[in-house]
Amino acid sequence: MVSDDDVVTDVATSQRMSRQARRDTACEIALRRELHRRGLRFRVDAALPGMPRRRADLTFAGAKVVVFVDGCFWHCCPIHGTAPAANSAWWREKLERNVARDAETNAHMIELGWTVLRFWEHEDPIEAADVVEIIVRGTPDDASA
Ligand SMILES: [Zn+2]
Repeated sequence: MVSDDDVVTDVATSQRMSRQARRDTACEIALRRELHRRGLRFRVDAALPGMPRRRADLTFAGAKVVVFVDGCFWHCCPIHGTAPAANSAWWREKLERNVARDAETNAHMIELGWTVLRFWEHEDPIEAADVVEIIVRGTPDDASA
């Protein structure tokens, strides 16, 4: 059993983690800038319909597309996701909850007819912008169909 007291003893780690959780990732900022440059307009950090306590990094209400840029640590990226060795049980449970919450959010939005795009913070923001633009604008084939 791990108590919260044990967890906060590692002050440096917990400060680093909380800073990471709040700060916009470099990928997210670069993605926003690139999409804006391409003339796409979106809301940042908007509450999700039907889930007022959860937020999407980017929301394209017209196209019904939500975009999340997931932090490698907090969302357990297969390449960079690591569980800290100290208090590992506590961390594993916390991180597994995050992953479960992501899946629940995806299912909820898809149910409402939205398209959910998720990128890892380690991904190339230009490539991510390509994907977002295609989904939001639709392909030329879609337009002529
Ligand atoms: Zn990663």
